[in-house]
Amino acid sequence: MKIATVLRNDDYTREVEQALKEKVGAASNTCSFVEGPNDEPDMVISIGGDGTLLEAVHQYGFKPAYVGIHTGHLGFYADWRPEELDRFVHILLEEQQPYIAEYPTVACKITTRNGETHDKWALNELVLRNNSLSTLVACVYINGTELETFRGDGLIVSSPSGSTAYNKAVNGAIVHPSIEAIQLSEIASINNQAYRTINSSLVLPKHHEVELIVMNPQIMVGLDREQGVWNDVCSITCRVGSEKIRFARYKKLTFWSRVRNSFITG
Ligand code: NAD
Repeated sequence: MKIATVLRNDDYTREVEQALKEKVGAASNTCSFVEGPNDEPDMVISIGGDGTLLEAVHQYGFKPAYVGIHTGHLGFYADWRPEELDRFVHILLEEQQPYIAEYPTVACKITTRNGETHDKWALNELVLRNNSLSTLVACVYINGTELETFRGDGLIVSSPSGSTAYNKAVNGAIVHPSIEAIQLSEIASINNQAYRTINSSLVLPKHHEVELIVMNPQIMVGLDREQGVWNDVCSITCRVGSEKIRFARYKKLTFWSRVRNSFITG
C-alpha cells in the first residue's frame, strides 16, 4: 500500500508524522510512504485539523482513501488522536479492509461574462460573497425556475458533510452524508418591505441544480479553504458532484457520534 501524508505546518504535527513513519516502517515492508499525487497513493493520511484534511482532498482528489489524525482540537473529519498511533498502525497493518464512507461533494461551474467556464468542486461548500462590505445581489434559480433576487452578505452551497461547517453557523440543517444532496443557505439576507428572500435553507436532491446569476461586478468565491476574487462572473451553477470523497473508517464512529462529539460533549 502506498501512503502519502499531508501536514499542518507545526512542529508537533511533524513529530507525529515522524513517529507514524517509524512505526509503520518498523512493522511492515509492504507499506511505503510516497511524496505527491503523481505517486498515486492508495491512502492519504492528513495530520492536523479539518483544514488540513480539506487541503489533502484538493491535493489528491477522488482516488485515494483518506484518514485523519487530529493534532489540534477535535476535528470533524479526523478519527484518530496522536496518543492512539500504536493502535492505528496495528489496525492499518492488519490489512483488514476498512469500511469506506463516501461523502458527496458540491460540483460548481463558474461562467464569466465572456463565456469562459471553470469547473470546480468542494467537499464542504461553495461560498459566494460580494468582494466588499456592500450587498451581494444574485438572482437564484432552482432547476430553471426563478426563486428570488437575493440581497445580503452571501450564499453558501454546502455538501452533507459540509452542512456541519459554515452552513451550520448560519442555522442551516445538518444533513447525513448518505443523502446525496446540496443545501443553499443565506448569510444575513435583507428582508423588508422592499426586498424578500425565502429566508430558509433549501435542500436539493441529486440532479437538481441551483443557479446564481451574479449582479456584482466583483465577487469573492470560497471553495472549502480556498478563496479568490472573481471579476465579471455571470453565473455559478451548483449540483451534487458525480464523484465522492472516500474515507477509510477503522473505528465504529457514526456521523451522529461525530455531531455529538463536535458540538455537544466536546
Ligand atoms: P478555520 O481554521 O477558520 O476553521 C473553521 C472551523 O470549521 C474549524 O473549527 C474546523 O474544525 C471546522 N470545520 C471545518 N470543516 C468542518 C465540517 N465539515 N464540519 C464541522 N466543522 C468543520 O478554517 P479551515 O480549518 O481552513 O476550514 C475551512 C472551513 O471553515 C470552510 O470550509 C468553512 O466551512 C469553515 N468556515 C466556517 C465559518 C463559520 O462557521 N462562521 C466561517 C468561515 C469558514
